[in-house]
Amino acid sequence: MPSHLGEDYIYLDYAATAPLCEEAAVAMQPYQVFGRAHLGAGGNANSLHSVGRSAFEQMERCRRELAKCVGARRPDEIMFTSGATEADNAAVLGLADAQFNRRKRSGSGNFTPHVIVSAIEHDAVLAPAKRLESLGYRVTRLSPNRQGFIELDALEGALDADTVLVSIMMANSEIGSVQPIAEMAKLAHANGALFHTDAVQALGKISVNVSDLDVDAASFSAHKVGGPKGVGALYLRARTPFTPFMLGGGQETGRRSGTQNLCGIVGFTAACAAAVNMQAAEWERLSALRDRLYERLPQIKEVRATVDVEKGSASYLPNIVHMLVEGFESETLILRLDTMGIGVSGGSACSSHSLEASHVLRAMAIDSDRAHGALRISMGRYTTESDIEALLDALPACLSK
Ligand code: PLP
Repeated sequence: MPSHLGEDYIYLDYAATAPLCEEAAVAMQPYQVFGRAHLGAGGNANSLHSVGRSAFEQMERCRRELAKCVGARRPDEIMFTSGATEADNAAVLGLADAQFNRRKRSGSGNFTPHVIVSAIEHDAVLAPAKRLESLGYRVTRLSPNRQGFIELDALEGALDADTVLVSIMMANSEIGSVQPIAEMAKLAHANGALFHTDAVQALGKISVNVSDLDVDAASFSAHKVGGPKGVGALYLRARTPFTPFMLGGGQETGRRSGTQNLCGIVGFTAACAAAVNMQAAEWERLSALRDRLYERLPQIKEVRATVDVEKGSASYLPNIVHMLVEGFESETLILRLDTMGIGVSGGSACSSHSLEASHVLRAMAIDSDRAHGALRISMGRYTTESDIEALLDALPACLSK
């Protein structure tokens, strides 16, 4: 382990992954028993004997609890997945295909199905949309305005009679802009299209209620809310047409085959319940830290906030601060801050190994020279005021090196 990764390392990359929270760690402990399937919860939730039935009961308790956390009306609207990448893929491919087939069956004749996404989606939505394009679908990618918002007029203008699916994320993982999802879902439905939202960054940070939002599907990931990696869920509203792409043993009522990751599901549920319980209080605490950063950053000569976030604004996530540093590459800054004991990011974790400017910043029409100096600070449950003061002290020193 590098020497600077000591107890006092300041982790400010929660949007990439949050540290495992106490509730999840405690809930998963009984699942670490080895050599005995009947102790802890070593059973397969699909087995008929009592070990399996006990695992099944645990899993269904989690499904009920998670459904409640996200405002689903029925527990069976929660489909467990291996994470949000799988949930996003399943939603984009599975909803588009099923809705296209439904329209064909109802006699809509021959038409080229149309899918609308925003240009600032995670690659887990953009890549399946591209796959649909290669299969003959028409895909519209809506650009955001300079502040990171998709305009309702732009969505309304893009919708047409051939649109089968709209997928727009609830909150952006790089700049934190929160989209008006309820209004967007309403527009999509008025045009006969299904609506999916990637709610990964929103869960636990702002209120997420899939029934109030009236979406057909929503993706969630455990490790962004303090749960373990490799587990997530897709909310799929009852009676929503869906073509499964994970075929096999027929688990998750045939919608997603594969033995469920029970230990992960238990950790996910405990973390999610804790995050949702603390959400309102955490919003106050984190947005105050965010506002402090946005207030102080412009005092550093080379630094500019990427978007205009007003004090107390609910239009942006409370835990993300994004800046552009003139004359520096993100990589240099990340590595310098890392050696000073502070972990930040240049944007999404997926693009952090590529030298290309982030697709989110490009879509916001930020010129590529400036976009190369992007830094994202993302905070969470264990971030303290003194962490933020330490970052504010370290930044000028890091720039003068
Ligand atoms: N969607 C968004 C908005 C994300 O931030 C991420 C994670 O980076 C994902 C999807 C993918 O989630 P997972 O890591 O669970 O596959």
